Amino acid sequence: MSASADGNGGLALPGLASFACHPAHSRGRRYTEAEAPTRTAFQRDRDRVIHSTAFRRLVYKTQVFLNHEGDLFRTRLTHSLEVAQLGRSIARSLRLNEDLVEAIALAHDLGHTPFGHAGQDALNTCLKALASDAGLVEADGWGFEHNLQSLRVVDKLEERYPAFDGLNLCFETREGILKHCSRANAQRLEAQEPGGVAARFLHGGSPSLEAQLCNLADEIAYNAHDIDDGVRSGLLTLEQLDEVPLFAHYRRQALAAHPSLGGRRLLFESIRLMLSEQVYDVIDTTRAAIDIAGVQDVQAVRRASPLVAFSPDMRERSQVLKSFLLRNLYRHPQVVETTDRARRVVSDLFALYMSQPAELPEGHGQPQAQPQQLARAVADYIAGMTDRFAIREHERLCGAVLFP
Ligand code: MG
Repeated sequence: MSASADGNGGLALPGLASFACHPAHSRGRRYTEAEAPTRTAFQRDRDRVIHSTAFRRLVYKTQVFLNHEGDLFRTRLTHSLEVAQLGRSIARSLRLNEDLVEAIALAHDLGHTPFGHAGQDALNTCLKALASDAGLVEADGWGFEHNLQSLRVVDKLEERYPAFDGLNLCFETREGILKHCSRANAQRLEAQEPGGVAARFLHGGSPSLEAQLCNLADEIAYNAHDIDDGVRSGLLTLEQLDEVPLFAHYRRQALAAHPSLGGRRLLFESIRLMLSEQVYDVIDTTRAAIDIAGVQDVQAVRRASPLVAFSPDMRERSQVLKSFLLRNLYRHPQVVETTDRARRVVSDLFALYMSQPAELPEGHGQPQAQPQQLARAVADYIAGMTDRFAIREHERLCGAVLFP
């Protein structure tokens, strides 16, 4: 890892706390680059993410509802924008680096397969089955995991620059993208990049506050927008949501202030109040935790336990909402039925490209490759697909119409 060449210490960042990530002290990029004259290293990362191919694909990738089920449901793109908005808002209050938060938030889901978690599960199953047939053991870290894939997109799969693969993002942005990692995968990453983004999964430690914040902003965003999308789809009702104390509380508050409010406006107002309250809760709780820990710089943050958090009460109430959404929305028979078909699209495509690698477009794996290398190339290709491209490609190659 090179020292930061474009930390841009010259661009003043007034108001940034000492425990925030300062671009001038970045741990740098994997390939040294000259500074940009008008942007800090993290602004530049954010811009690189926005201009990437993987980012544009997010618009046609499922969050919960398949893209063609309705124009108003969240997609991975609008979800990522909402995470960035919430993240920036909280970052500003805590005097953290908003640009870094935005870069991480916009990149955090780049590695998602088509069809959301169903696609990821299917791809993981395919790769694991192939590994066990080939006698590889689980410890090799073989499989598919979207966090790891997001890092792979920004480190390797984007082909935009003459001198390197990937987007060559700063350590801090990559650290935030890799929010979970199994020990086996961490060992593999650590071997390629000693002391790099996977080290904390082997030796302990926390990521930057900006990375911690994106993680929580992700949760705040999807809990809120999945209520909205759930009701919009007709799979959840406002009455049913009364069993969720967190939501019921703000619905009562909305009605107390506006007794005649009903329908969508009541839903929006309740979600708005809930979002605001959760944001204030994170800001207050985190500010207090930072004070108590007495962290003065990023090194101290990395040595400390995670500091960005909900209060215990909000954590518990948010957990109840999460399990409600799991039971009533993510496992709703209608959602499950769609995801079953989505799983089939992904597994069929995987089997087909493995047996007929010539069907892969140029640049996606060599026909003579070893099965393991071919499987990774196939997984990369499928993971990069949008929902609708995967559906079309499945129809073309497998002849079945699963999504008429
Ligand atoms: Mg997300």
